[in-house]
Amino acid sequence: MRRGSADGGLETATFASSVAHVDTVERKPFFHYRPGTSTVTLAAPGCSFRCDYCVNFRISQYGRDDESVWNANAVDPADIVGQAAAMGGNVALSYTEPSLAPELTLELARLGRDVGVEIVWKSNGFLTPEAVALTAPAVAAVNIDLKGVDEQSHRRLTGGSVRPVIETIGLFREHGTWVEVSTPIIPGVTEPARVADVLAGISTEIPWHLVRFTPAYRMRDEDPTSPDDIADAVAAGRAAGLKYVYVERALGDDGRATRCPKCGSTVLSRGVWSLRENRIVAGRCPDCGTAIEGRW
Ligand code: SF4
Repeated sequence: MRRGSADGGLETATFASSVAHVDTVERKPFFHYRPGTSTVTLAAPGCSFRCDYCVNFRISQYGRDDESVWNANAVDPADIVGQAAAMGGNVALSYTEPSLAPELTLELARLGRDVGVEIVWKSNGFLTPEAVALTAPAVAAVNIDLKGVDEQSHRRLTGGSVRPVIETIGLFREHGTWVEVSTPIIPGVTEPARVADVLAGISTEIPWHLVRFTPAYRMRDEDPTSPDDIADAVAAGRAAGLKYVYVERALGDDGRATRCPKCGSTVLSRGVWSLRENRIVAGRCPDCGTAIEGRW
């Protein structure tokens, strides 16, 4: 999966990427990790899942799908870390599955340590405990997709078991990595209330991002998630006790704001994929002093 032939030779994706651009950290999405910082974003071809709705299938499904051809260029970790350092930013591995090329993460983290550059992941969470132990010291923050908690429907949607994903969420937290979770609300598949309960059972402090499903790949004929279904999922998250429930676009500014879980004051406001105002002082609500969990 991580090897391809190029110009008659063999090419490895271990230090290669299909993507190399700068985004805000909010776009990964991280809402409780260094708000407003820039991320140099990379994505090596390949993924351990084959989700029916994957919007990135042209790079994630390399080796499985004829539409997904080899498309990666070599990356120089020192150059990437240098770019991030110059912006006071981070390096993100996103769009595909970063745990398939741990060497890249470990090397970026090694180089980044001296210049204050941290590595963040967007991951499907399908890792063994050994893989988490290997990579967690190099990953400052991870946003894990939890696409559902029903084993059968998760296997149908992704090709993989959900149990390792749930375990990985807890394991990264135990290793000290900051964890946020994203759930695409796929009509007829995702059961938001069940997902919220499982997540709250790990920790009510985990920020939960609800992502609107848009028709793509093998689900091109399905309808997008309705605003009502998204609002119901938000309510389910709050009913489960999750302190921080987010919707990027479908519910407007309100869906992206961070409120103090005690006094309700807005402590962080955001535009679309961007920070507007950060009122947090030393990790606390400026109005009542309650701690707001995150890496500020
Ligand atoms: S885990 Fe993400 S990148 Fe991989 S196939 Fe699923 S949606 Fe695509």
